[in-house]
Amino acid sequence: MEKLRIAIQKSGRLSEKSLKLLADCGVRVNNGGKLKAEATNFPLEVLFLRDDDISQYVEEGVADVGMLGENTVLEKDKKVEVVRKLGFANCRLSLAVSKEIDYTGTSWFEGKKVATSYPKILGDYFNQKGVNATIEFISGSVEIAPGIGLAEGICDIVSTGSTLLTNGLKEVEQVLTSEAVLIANPNLSDIKKALLESIMFRMNAVQKASENKYILLNAPNKNLKEITAVLPGMKSPTILPLAEDGWSSLHSVVKEDEFWEVIDKLKDLGAEGILVCPIEKMIV
Ligand code: ATP
Ligand code: MG
Repeated sequence: MEKLRIAIQKSGRLSEKSLKLLADCGVRVNNGGKLKAEATNFPLEVLFLRDDDISQYVEEGVADVGMLGENTVLEKDKKVEVVRKLGFANCRLSLAVSKEIDYTGTSWFEGKKVATSYPKILGDYFNQKGVNATIEFISGSVEIAPGIGLAEGICDIVSTGSTLLTNGLKEVEQVLTSEAVLIANPNLSDIKKALLESIMFRMNAVQKASENKYILLNAPNKNLKEITAVLPGMKSPTILPLAEDGWSSLHSVVKEDEFWEVIDKLKDLGAEGILVCPIEKMIV
């Protein structure tokens, strides 16, 4: 039977979360440190690669799909489709200069030398801004370049900015924002397409679940209407009578990012005994 072949990062910032996402989708992979592993309960083969190589393998059809940072997909610029965002490895690609510099805007980079591992993305960015700068490609430890006189600025991945600070640099422009994405070869067979659909259906359920909470509470019957309006749920909340007269139990689903606002409104409407639980999977 045909299997879907997925490429994920062998070791690095994406590895653990990529495997966890597969596990949350119910796909068990036994990786004994090998470069190739088979899922035991889904027609899936996993290739463990350097993230730099994943786009190329997917373009060439050696792998059918891959998980990697959007930043790397854009830099490698291969013929692959980004089929979904994965919601982890959020970061940005930014320009930074020594913190003593009186930075005036992108024109500051005119005629300067900038070190980066992202020459394509940075070249496009400078072109678009009409800036002529020299791009110095280096493959790692980019943040030390200004300190050793290799370049006047850098363009690198930033998440908290602490690495920049330690190296006496400050972030001055955000070139792009990135997160992990799922890419696919554009010419998959129908069987592989169906397998990809099936994995993506599961990914949706996992991602939806992580964005929502299950909420249970006791509410005075006289306020049920208002409380129901605050708690839309997936269709409408489940309402069960409590043994105590004049009270009901409500069950519903709330979005993680609306959660505290909803709780405040519920308390104001007399809700009591509010319980909030994580949801493992959510099929809507
Ligand atoms: P490889 O050995 O596979 O080439 P790498 O050193 O190129 O690995 P990592 O440092 O593991 O790559 O980063 C992989 C991806 O994780 C990056 O391309 C980026 O999308 C994301 N990333 C990098 N740094 C951070 C960070 N500090 N916070 C969040 N995401 C990050
Ligand atoms: Mg890499």
